[in-house]
Amino acid sequence: MTENKYSLSQQIIDTCLSMNASGINHGTSGNVSARFGEGFLVTPSGVPYEDLTPEKIVEMDLNGGHKGDLLPSSEWRMHRDIYASRAEAGAVVHTHSAHATALATLRRGIPCFHYMIAVAGGTDIRCSDYATFGSAELSETMLKAMEGRKACLLANHGYIGFGADLCKALALAVEVEGLAKQYYTALQMGEPVILSDDQMAEVLEKFKTYGKQPNKG
Ligand code: 13P
Ligand code: ZN
Repeated sequence: MTENKYSLSQQIIDTCLSMNASGINHGTSGNVSARFGEGFLVTPSGVPYEDLTPEKIVEMDLNGGHKGDLLPSSEWRMHRDIYASRAEAGAVVHTHSAHATALATLRRGIPCFHYMIAVAGGTDIRCSDYATFGSAELSETMLKAMEGRKACLLANHGYIGFGADLCKALALAVEVEGLAKQYYTALQMGEPVILSDDQMAEVLEKFKTYGKQPNKG
């Protein structure tokens, strides 16, 4: 295995372990991938994250072919379709985080009840239609819900989102779960006030430069 592939595979494993340690996922739920060459590297299906070694991370091409003995994540189509259609995607994180999933069971997305909704790229975070896990239909409805966004909820299932790299994809997953929890909490007390189009337009403009330190990109 090349040094590049080994180190990216190890970063995928570290991301999986952080994802579960941070409480936004549990067990073998969820999956993680990173763009690699003309394709991507993805976690194998159903293998506990503690048992992963770089050799067990599966290399795939964009046609759905894979190398090695282990089967890729059952959700490889969602990962593949994100890399194929979103040039800016360098890594994908899928979780069953509790509050995002709870909202998704109500088939509710997250409106702009908080300005930080803009981290996902727009004025809301949508919830997809329902489709069976691992199916091409799920990937199709996911892509639709993610139009113009970097994340969406998956009906009766969970969360998926992408970033330029693994750190950013994980940070977005943590942030969206935080927003889902805040929204859920507010709903216990009443109906949260939704920010106006003008207010969100201002936030989205500020987000173009927010958090970008000089010379850090
Ligand atoms: P895999 O173990 O096949 O990646 O499946 C986990 C999951 O979350 C399916 O939606
Ligand atoms: Zn899942």
